Order: sequence, then structure tokens, then C-alpha cells
Amino acid sequence: MTTRTIDRPTAADRPTAADRPTAAASRTVERTYTAMPASDGAGVRLNRVIGRPGLPDLDPFLLLDEFRSEDGADYIGGFPDHPHRGFETVTYMLAGRMRHGDNKGNVGLLRPGSVQWMTAGRGIVHSEMPEQEDGLLQGFQLWVNLPAKDKMTAPRYQDIEPEAVPTVAAADGVQVKVIAGRVGTVQGVVETGATDPTYLDVVLAPGARFTQPVPAGHNAFVYVYDGSAAVGDGETLRRSEIGLLSDGEAITVAAGTEPTRLLIIAGRPLGEPVARHGPFVMNTNAEIRQAAEDFLAGRF
Ligand code: MN
Repeated sequence: MTTRTIDRPTAADRPTAADRPTAAASRTVERTYTAMPASDGAGVRLNRVIGRPGLPDLDPFLLLDEFRSEDGADYIGGFPDHPHRGFETVTYMLAGRMRHGDNKGNVGLLRPGSVQWMTAGRGIVHSEMPEQEDGLLQGFQLWVNLPAKDKMTAPRYQDIEPEAVPTVAAADGVQVKVIAGRVGTVQGVVETGATDPTYLDVVLAPGARFTQPVPAGHNAFVYVYDGSAAVGDGETLRRSEIGLLSDGEAITVAAGTEPTRLLIIAGRPLGEPVARHGPFVMNTNAEIRQAAEDFLAGRF
């Protein structure tokens, strides 16, 4: 007969890798795309990452644009008055300044490090204009879909000053700006809705490594905008490459031999029909026609 003492943990009692979220198997890259040069607004040249042929969307994300030019001719036209209905636009500036104004009298100036999380809801008409004529203009705009129940909500702005965006020294050689979601105990400042997005700007020293838990079931991607990074010890993404990730509970990125900067973005998919026409994103074609009528009739 054998007995077991109860004061000595057995192998079965010790935590396993599966009990520790940060040690969970990383998601891996399922598909890779390179950002495409595109033009929008009044002739602004940009890199379109999501919202282009081959990658029209990644539920709940409808578009990701990267602005990055030192030549004023590429951006000076800006984005004069245009409408939005049915989703959120998230503008994150890294360099340069953008002046914002809308038809409700809201104005703002985005500067390096600023985040503007705009819930267009039932509709706004706004302009987004570079305030400089030359020098580096760099940043991102992400479009996040709204669920059917929130598409006609009142418009809302969350303007976050650069100083208010938390930066976390998450590991050796790793600095993370938490725009939305949570890193360790640090919560991003943006209040988010049904899609519960994670939006992290990750700065990695050469060879540095970072693991971020993400909810299983959320769609997730990594976009590298400087350097290169291996994802989940698998595929290496280079500058201007987006990797769409497999499902799982964590994302691990490891920089190559250069300083590296990348975005980690994830969100709960809505799984609803998407009817889309330019700046209107609804669930049905009838709702798109209504949006165009309402806009033309000045009802935004
Ligand atoms: Mn806009």
C-alpha cells in the first residue's frame, strides 16, 4: 500500500504552462500582406494596410491607413469636409500635426503622440487637415466597425493628449504605448464598446521580446512599421507587412537585429453583415441609401 503526503506538491499540483497566460502558446501568422500605396482625401498619398484589394477588412476592422512622408506635396491637400456614419475612426499621430474640425463645431489639434478616438455613430461631417507644409507627417488611421445596435448612436470624441497615453516598460528593451486594452495592470485610456479593442504601439530594441495576452476569439494582427519581428517564433514580418494571426490567448513578438516598431491590434469580431459605401458602413444596402439621403439633405 502506498500513501501520499499532502504537504508536498506533486507534479500534478504545480502550475503548468497552460495556467500562465503569458506563457500560453503564441498565435502565429496565418496570412501576410504588404501595405499598398494609395491616395485618398484631396490627393493624400498613404499606405493602405487594411481596406484594399485582397484584404478588404478584418472584422471588426474596416481600414488601416499609414501616413508617412517628409514631402508636403504628399499630404498638404489633407482630407477636406467628408462624412462618416456607422463606425469609429481612430487617428494616432507619431509626427507632425493634424487640425480637426466638424459640423458640430468641435475642433482639435492632433500632435505627435495624440490619439483621437471618434465614434461617428449616426453621422458627422468633418475635415482632417495637416497643419504643416513640409517636414515629416506620420501616423495611422484605423476604422473600427460598430455593432448594428450602436451604428446610430450619438457622435462622440475621445481626444487623448500625448501625455495621457500610458507607456509601459513591459520587458527588457520593450516600451508599449497602451492606446486601448490592458498591458499588465495598466489600462488604456480609451473607453471602448462591443468590439473591446486592443491597440498597442510597441517599441522593441534589437532582439527584445514581448508577450501580450489577448482574448481567444478576437481577430488580431501585427503591423510592422520599422525593423522586423518574428511572431510566435514563426514567420518574420518586415517593415510595411501586416500579419493576420491564428486564434489563441497570447501574441509574442521578437525583434530582429534592428530597432523595431509595430502595432498589435485585436478586437472582438461582430459577425454581422457589412454594407459599405465609401464613408458609410452599415448592415444593409437600404441603410446605405438612407445614409446618402440623410447626408445630402444635411441631416448629419
Ligand atoms: Mn474622416
